[in-house]
Amino acid sequence: MKKILTLVLLLSAYAAMASYTLPLESPKVVYVCVSETAYAYHAKRDCKFLSRCTHAVKAVSIEKAKELGKKKPCKGCCK
Ligand SMILES: [Zn+2]
Repeated sequence: MKKILTLVLLLSAYAAMASYTLPLESPKVVYVCVSETAYAYHAKRDCKFLSRCTHAVKAVSIEKAKELGKKKPCKGCCK
C-alpha cells in the first residue's frame, strides 16, 4: 500500500514538474479565412465552411485569430 502511495506522489510530482517546464497552454493552431467578412476560426483545415473561403486560409494561434476578428469558434468543426 505504501508503495502505491509513493508511486502516486512521484507521479503527481512529475506531473507538476512537467506542467512547470511546459507552457500552461500550448498555442493551439486554428485556421482562419482572411476575408473581412469571416468571423469564425476553424479547428480543421478541411472544414466545409472553410472550403467556401474565397480568400487565403491562414493557420494561426487562437489569440491571433481573435486579433484578426475571428472571435467565434466555427459551428461546423469546433465542437
Ligand atoms: Zn469550421
